[in-house]
Order: sequence, then C-alpha cells, then structure tokens
Amino acid sequence: MIGEVTGIRRIRMLYLQLLYRCNFECLHCFHGERLQHGDAFTAEEAISLITLMRDQYGVEAVTLLGGEPFVYRDLAQVVQHAKQDLGLRVEICTNGYRIERRLREIAPNLDLLRVSLEGIGSTNDHIRKTGSYQSALSALDLARQLGVRTGATMTVTSRNIGEVLPLARTLEHFDVEQLKLHCLRPVGNAAAHPELLVTDTTAYARLREELQAAKLTVEVIVDEDLSEDGAPEICTPAGGPVEIERIEADPRGALTMSCKAVGKDSHAFWYDKVADHIVHRPSATDELTLAVPDVVYGRA
Ligand code: SF4
Repeated sequence: MIGEVTGIRRIRMLYLQLLYRCNFECLHCFHGERLQHGDAFTAEEAISLITLMRDQYGVEAVTLLGGEPFVYRDLAQVVQHAKQDLGLRVEICTNGYRIERRLREIAPNLDLLRVSLEGIGSTNDHIRKTGSYQSALSALDLARQLGVRTGATMTVTSRNIGEVLPLARTLEHFDVEQLKLHCLRPVGNAAAHPELLVTDTTAYARLREELQAAKLTVEVIVDEDLSEDGAPEICTPAGGPVEIERIEADPRGALTMSCKAVGKDSHAFWYDKVADHIVHRPSATDELTLAVPDVVYGRA
C-alpha cells in the first residue's frame, strides 16, 4: 500500500515501538500523556509486522523501542524471531534502567544496544530519573562484557548542551561506538518544558567546533537541526524517493515515515493488526499532505 501511494519500494529499517508503557517519565519525552496508555503490540502482531516489512519492503534491520522495551514481557521472543527466523539486524533503544537480567537473556540475538543518556550524573537524572545515570552505565558495561556492540543517544537541551563532550568522553571508556545527538522538538512532555529548548542557536556552532576539535574515538552523529540555520533543504527526486531510511510504528499501529512527524499524530498509513496489512488513511494534516521533511543526520 505504501508503494502504491508514494512510489516507495524499499525501507531500510523498521523502528517498532512495542508499547507506550515506561518506567520513566522524562521531562522531554515526546510520548507525553501516552506513556500512560495501555496500547501495545502482542508478540504475534510485532512478529507479523516485522515479517511484512521484510517481505514487502526489504527491511534489513529492526530497532525495538517503546516506551521502555525492557518492560515488554515478550521482548526475548520478538528479538529471537527477528534475528534467527528473519535474519534481520536487531537493535534495542533503552533507558538502560536495571536491565541486566534480561540483557543477558537476549544478548546472543542482539546486534546493538542503544542507551539514552541526557548528560552526566545529576544532569541526566534530573531529566530522566534518580539513579538512571549509574544504571545506564552499568548496562553499557555489561553489554561490553557480553560482546554486544553499543551506542547512545542524547537529546540536546539548554540543560545539557555543555555536557555533550564530557558524555562522549565517558562513553569512550565503555567502548561505545556511536553517540547520536537529537534536536529537542516541543511535543509530548517537552511541550510543557519550554525551559529545555536551546534559544541561543549559536550554541550549536560552538558545540560542533568543540566536538570537531576533540578528536573523539566515539562517532558522533548530529541531527542537522542542531545548527544556527536549521537543517539544509534536501532535494527529493521527482515523484518522491524510491527508497527511504526508516519507518516507525507506534503501539497502536500508526506508521510514520518522517522523524519530524513522530509523536504528532501526522501519519497517513496504519498497520491493521487484525488484518495484517497496511492501510492508507489520508488526512489534511498527515505527513504526506504536509510534505513533512525527514530529519537529516550528519557527522559532527
Ligand atoms: S524518553 Fe524514553 S525513557 Fe524517557 S519516558 Fe520517554 S520512552 Fe521512557
């Protein structure tokens, strides 16, 4: 259905939000009040969607997230199926809070563990949860011992922009391969915390200079909106792209192709869990009608 409407034939990666539920309530979380909602994929539905995406769109990798994927009861089953039966690369994006027992269980089928951190020590804990910084570092340490590759994500805010470099240095001690920096978008909980927005955008230029001068071994990937002028305009081919990088499924089955539309209820496509197929439900505010651009990432 996506191909018929948009011409897109290939999607490289599926981001699958297994559930909204989370053991955190971060100040910047784009889910906002949905963190309290009970919607979730069953293991069977999750496996059916992953299979459909692989068979119809050539998806090569699945990233499991939430909410918090490690509170999802059937995580091991979904990971094992995606890896062993479908042959996909499997990543998990987690807050890393007390995940040790379950991480040991799924490690043999996991290609990459990506942990979210929002700064050093109390800076992180203020945005996320008391004790979450140490717990996330413990998860990274265990992943290294288990031979699981690791990455990290950070959403750059007014509170942590001065701690990007110290965090990158810390991550190097844990052999983390990549740190991905996101731009805060005022949706969900972040809409209620305007104090987190970086208002002086010249700070982004200083951050980039600092990162470039630092000669880090951890690769730093930057959302190009973290710049004074915002992301560059990207020319899409006439008729739209034939291949896209990613699609994200929320726990209800809503499918979003542009990262900038995630969390905004701006989707044109849904995965019908019962019928096991994708349906087109266009609206005046969907991401196709509004031509919402995707996030552009680059090297710092
Ligand atoms: S940002 Fe992640 S860890 Fe924090 S509340 Fe949202 S889903 Fe949970």
